[in-house]
Order: sequence, then C-alpha cells, then structure tokens
Amino acid sequence: MAFKSLGLSEPILQGVTAMGYNDPTPIQLRAIPLILAGRDVIGSAQTGTGKTAAFALPILSQLVGHEARPRVLILEPTRELAAQVETAIRDFCRFTNLTVAVFYGGVGYGKQTDALKEGVDILVATPGRLLDHMSRGLAKLDGIQYLVLDEADRMLDMGFLPDVRRIIDRCPKKRQTSLFSATIPPQIESLIKWTMTDPETIEIGARRSVAATVKHVIYPVAEAQKTELLLELLNRVNYDSVIVFCRTKYGADRVATLLKRNNHAVAVLHSNRTQKEREHALDGFRHGRYEVLVATDIAARGLDISNVSHVVNYDVPQHPEDYIHRIGRTGRAESTGDAFTIMVAEDATHVFDIERFISQKIPREKLEGFNYTYTALFEAEKKAEANVRPQKIQAVRVRGGYFFGPAKRRRR
Ligand code: AMP
Repeated sequence: MAFKSLGLSEPILQGVTAMGYNDPTPIQLRAIPLILAGRDVIGSAQTGTGKTAAFALPILSQLVGHEARPRVLILEPTRELAAQVETAIRDFCRFTNLTVAVFYGGVGYGKQTDALKEGVDILVATPGRLLDHMSRGLAKLDGIQYLVLDEADRMLDMGFLPDVRRIIDRCPKKRQTSLFSATIPPQIESLIKWTMTDPETIEIGARRSVAATVKHVIYPVAEAQKTELLLELLNRVNYDSVIVFCRTKYGADRVATLLKRNNHAVAVLHSNRTQKEREHALDGFRHGRYEVLVATDIAARGLDISNVSHVVNYDVPQHPEDYIHRIGRTGRAESTGDAFTIMVAEDATHVFDIERFISQKIPREKLEGFNYTYTALFEAEKKAEANVRPQKIQAVRVRGGYFFGPAKRRRR
C-alpha cells in the first residue's frame, strides 16, 4: 500500500516523496491510520523501523497552518535523538509553513529562547531543558494537542520519569498521546494508565526480535586477550563502518585510544563528551571521516546511523534489551550486517540471558589462526551449555493437588 492511500495531507505527502520513501513500513501502515483517527497509540518497535515517521506524519498532517504556539510536544531521552527527530520533522514539513524547534541541554539558551519568542508549532525536547524553559515562563504547554513520549523505557532508565510527569501535568488533559517503548516495564505501564486514554497497542515484529538480516557471532576469549582479539577482528573483517560498544565511558576512551594507535580512524561517543564533541563525532562517522565509532549504550541509543556494516560488542551488554538496541544499528533498511560479541568467562550469564531474551542461540566461533592463550574456553562453554539443559520436572503429590518441581537426585 502506498503512502497516498493512508489519508495524509497533500504537503506532508510531498515531503515524504521528497525524502525518497516509496512504501510505508509496517509500523507506519498501522500507526498512521490510528493516529489520524484520533486514537492514543502505544508503539512497541525498535528504532530503524520507521517509527519517527509513524507518529510524525499523521500528527503533522492534522496541523493546519502556522499558529506560532506549541501544539505538538515530542519528548526524547537524549540530545542526539532529539536533534535527529527534529531534522526528520523539518524534512517532513518542508512544504508547509509549520515551524519546529529543538531544546536540549549542553548548549546555550539564546537560539532556543529566540525560537520560543518567535513562536513555534512543534517542540522536540529533552525533559530537563524543557523544564528550564518552562520555569523561566517561556515555554507554555497549554496549547499542546499532540504529545509524543519517545523511547519511554530509556527515559525511565535515565531517571527522567519524574520530569516527564511534571511536564505532562502542564499539558492540557484533552490531547492525543503516543508512546513508543521497546519494552513496557511496570513503571511505563503506570505512566500509560496515567497519561493515555483507551490506547491501542501496536507491536511490530516480536518485541524481542533482532533484524533477520544480521549474522550474530560470539567470540569467546580470555579477559587478557580482549583488545588483541578486537584488533584482529577489525583487521580481518572487510567493514565499511563499525560501531564498537563498550560498557563504560572509561572503557570507551581506552578502546578508542588503542584503535587510534593501530591506525584506525576513530570517533568516540559518550555522555562525558561535550555536545560539540558528540556532534563532531557523529557527523564525522556519518560522512565517513571516521570508520569506527566507539560508543556507550546511552550515547548511541536510537541514533539513526545508516550503513553500519558491523557492530562489535567489546563488552557484553548487561541488559538483554541493550543487545537488541546495539544490534539495531546494523542490518537496517534490509542491508545485511554482522554483529560480533566478544565474550569472557564472567559474561556467561549475561549471554545466556540475551539468548533467552531473543529466543535464539548465538553461535560461538573461533578466530582461526588467532593465538588463543586459553584454549579450554570453548570446552568451558560446552560445559556451561550442558548445565542449562532442561531439568527433569517431577510431580509431587501435596494436599489439594500436585506440586511440580525439579526432580530429586537419587542417592546412590
Ligand atoms: P526511525 O526508525 O524513525 O529511526 O527510521 C529509520 C530510518 O528509516 C530513517 O533513516 C528513515 O529516514 C528511514 N525510513 C523511515 N520510513 C521509511 C520508509 N517508509 N521508506 C524508506 N525509509 C524510511
């Protein structure tokens, strides 16, 4: 089905065509008609599925003409995501006279204050900076008709929910709300109950799915050889662009230094970097000035970086959802991508959790010719697997019925 038949306004359709979109993605097909019909929508989909257009196109289609007061508020957890969504919205409404502004911290107030004074139709913001503008009496939310809470689970992770609630409190009760979240933990469930009216849930793919076009591999190695293995992997792989994920900012800096020393063009993205440095890193990576981006999860969450040929998990993610988000950087738009995870012995439980979460066993591979110092690693893995074989379940008769539990071992 084409965009034309979805009921979008003419100038927004022109914007979509100018973006080069031919067919709507599954989440767009399902969300656009619902939002156009005035429904509150909960979208559970990974980034890379086209979710920005899924909420933006139907909202923008309903705004008739520039009114110079905020009617749409889109909350984002990170500055990068806010900037990315603002750019997409600017593109979608380039054939309208609607105006959009983006607010995030780490930069001066001047431009943002000017935009508010001039009057904007659409606000894209991170919660902290928006609250700053509200407390200065500049950002008024009493005209908000459409509220979008994007990446709600990440807002929760980052401790933003109280700020988000304070912001929502200042929006009119009569409004249309959309919420996007890869997972719906109990706190988000209660946010939904509190902020949404009879919402319709759209789940695209399995909530725990990873792109079918990505080949996943785990490389077990001894802790002391992690960096050596990373260098060897990068040497052997014919990559165009690769993101290396690290658990900590310190780790990311260390890995970046190591890669630079080995003649890789590297940019680093983590939250200790200034906004300017982050923008420079992203821009350089997008335009091919850097071939490797070393990043932490929070900094890289949801970023629209296309053509990433490989993702390397230098550290195994501690939350299974983060594995999906990391891997979401590759295999986008149906190009194939490879996802490598370097695993040390202590990571076994996290890897097991990830495999359970994605309902997929990830193959272990040995890098042929690599000088492994600890050859028993692969044996250890096999043993660990044997330990997680399904246990025999035994029914034990108890008062009122049966209790099912692990079978007792017989004494010899
Ligand atoms: P998102 O999930 O919103 O971050 O979108 C991921 C990428 O897909 C962005 O680069 C979009 O420009 C692109 N995209 C979104 N919808 C479509 C579509 N219908 N056709 C082609 N590309 C799209």
